[in-house]
Amino acid sequence: MRTSPTLLVCAAALAAAALPTPALAGDGGGAAAPDEAPSRAGGGTYGAHVPGEHKAGRPDRSRRRAARRRGMLLTSFRLRRRHLFLHGRAARLLFTLEGRRPIRMRLRVLSAADRSRVATIDLGERSAGAHSVAFTGLEAGALPEGRYVLHLVGHGLRRAPTASSTADLDFSHHAFPVAGSFDWGGEDARFGARREGHRHQGQDLAAAEGTPVVAPRGGMVEVVQYQAGGAGHYVVVDGDDEDYDYAFMHLKTGSITVEEGDRVRTGQAIGEVGSTGSSTGPHLHFEIWEGGWYDGGEPIDPLPLLESWV
Ligand SMILES: [Zn+2]
Repeated sequence: MRTSPTLLVCAAALAAAALPTPALAGDGGGAAAPDEAPSRAGGGTYGAHVPGEHKAGRPDRSRRRAARRRGMLLTSFRLRRRHLFLHGRAARLLFTLEGRRPIRMRLRVLSAADRSRVATIDLGERSAGAHSVAFTGLEAGALPEGRYVLHLVGHGLRRAPTASSTADLDFSHHAFPVAGSFDWGGEDARFGARREGHRHQGQDLAAAEGTPVVAPRGGMVEVVQYQAGGAGHYVVVDGDDEDYDYAFMHLKTGSITVEEGDRVRTGQAIGEVGSTGSSTGPHLHFEIWEGGWYDGGEPIDPLPLLESWV
């Protein structure tokens, strides 16, 4: 940390005198039958068959025929996008059912650590066929950060031997803003480091020019501007459902993909690492403000949060 030879002089603090006019006025079933209770699903093993449901050695085809008569059979289940972000792109639950009568399906969200139930989401009546259901982590209020097992259940639902009724999910509330290799830099990269006439208001993250810069949190793009003598090309995003504004500076010329007023998702690319403005090498100058960016808020040290997002 202290030995980085690269000195990234970054005058991006936007001294009050050089401040641009703010662009915006605003502040800134485990196949268990007949019930879903694990205790009735063969000793509480998720995805287990109900004891006695199938006779050993019975051919698979006749088993399936029997299933069609009796109820619904889960023949596949998987999760597209295993790592999900709050206010990010939705994951998709993909599952297929065989059977004659529609059944009410539910998704149980279980803690990966102890399998305790965190939420149950109603997926409605489902008929035979392929199903694709969006999952955002907002279905039952914002899902806390963590690792989960998603468990597909339904009244009278059983599971084909080749199918799983569970899928693993990692859920995060923030994305790391540099989507690629980076370096924390030394003391000079830190929040509060001395700069000529002011103190450094962010954390510098050294990375190759062109490395994608992504929104740590979905929200509203408040500012897209250029400041020749300081921040270079920069973007400010107001995070959704939290009191943080994020500023991204020295972005590469022509790399910014958002406009003021756009909404962005967590993890969405907004530009690329560059060295525009007052900068001596490619890096992202990253600020977090509690409250509005130059609009009633205060910059805070981004390092502890960055370290928790990496
Ligand atoms: Zn900086």
